[in-house]
Amino acid sequence: MAALRVCGLQGDYSLFPIQPDDFQSLKGLLDRVRAGKITGLNVTIPHKQTVVSFLDELTSTAQAIGAVNTIFLRHDKLIGDNTDAPGFMADLKRFLGTESCFDGARHRLQNQKPRALVLGAGGAARAVVHALANHGWSVSIAARRTEQAQQIALSFRNYELQIVNFSSLQTDVRPLIFDLLVNTTPVGMAPKIDRSPWPGNLPFPAQAVIYDLIYNPSETKFVKDACRQGLSATNGLGMLIEQAALSFEIWTGQKSSRDVMFDAVRQTAR
Ligand code: NAP
Repeated sequence: MAALRVCGLQGDYSLFPIQPDDFQSLKGLLDRVRAGKITGLNVTIPHKQTVVSFLDELTSTAQAIGAVNTIFLRHDKLIGDNTDAPGFMADLKRFLGTESCFDGARHRLQNQKPRALVLGAGGAARAVVHALANHGWSVSIAARRTEQAQQIALSFRNYELQIVNFSSLQTDVRPLIFDLLVNTTPVGMAPKIDRSPWPGNLPFPAQAVIYDLIYNPSETKFVKDACRQGLSATNGLGMLIEQAALSFEIWTGQKSSRDVMFDAVRQTAR
């Protein structure tokens, strides 16, 4: 709403709750986009994958990830896109750009890819893994059900992904080699804020930066523990804003102000 106002556009950004198995309502909503009554939709869990079968086309990003979070009408076709991946990457770049501790030059000099460990293998992990691998990172996935991570590896055959079982993080990997840890699990989210996906008895990699997709609370236990060890860490608010801003740009063709969107989110959180 704030982005619409700043661009001088009239409109509304409303919630359309749809039960997980209510495909009739989902289709009905999509028909309203087809009819031009709604300009576009964001889709969230649990519809990000199921909605695909109701669409006419997917962008290459949505196709690669196998999930959609943004829908729009173009030339009478319902198109599904995914702005989670570019949203994550844009915010990661912003974060790393501010971090003197992340020395990208070190990797280039050593002719080495920077290494990321992604915790979790759900929908958000797919977007994060795609974004990282596509930007030249070497990616490992830690999943409690490794078959879920294998599915991601199957979808992204072009990339070499390593898979680790969550329960054997301490023994299976040399966690100290990672430059980036990304939490894509909901562990640590409100109200269970005293939990962390990172094993309590395992030190963080000494030079890693930490990215938690969770933004409520703004400082998770994962983030706090990493900061206590002297590491730089950020939450998922920047990704949330970036993916929303990118969706806005798809629907309106106008650039939206990230600052205005940040302020609007902060005001609602108060
Ligand atoms: P999801 O599809 O349900 O995936 C969650 C993943 O975490 C699954 O692999 C799940 O494994 C794993 N997991 C859950 N509890 C775990 C535990 N105790 N230990 C180890 N692994 C565990 O959910 P999602 O859509 O990917 O979302 C995940 C998180 O990202 C949520 O907190 C969401 O709010 C956040 N998110 C943030 C943004 C943003 O813009 N910042 C965007 C998208 C998502 P199982 O399948 O075995 O349960």
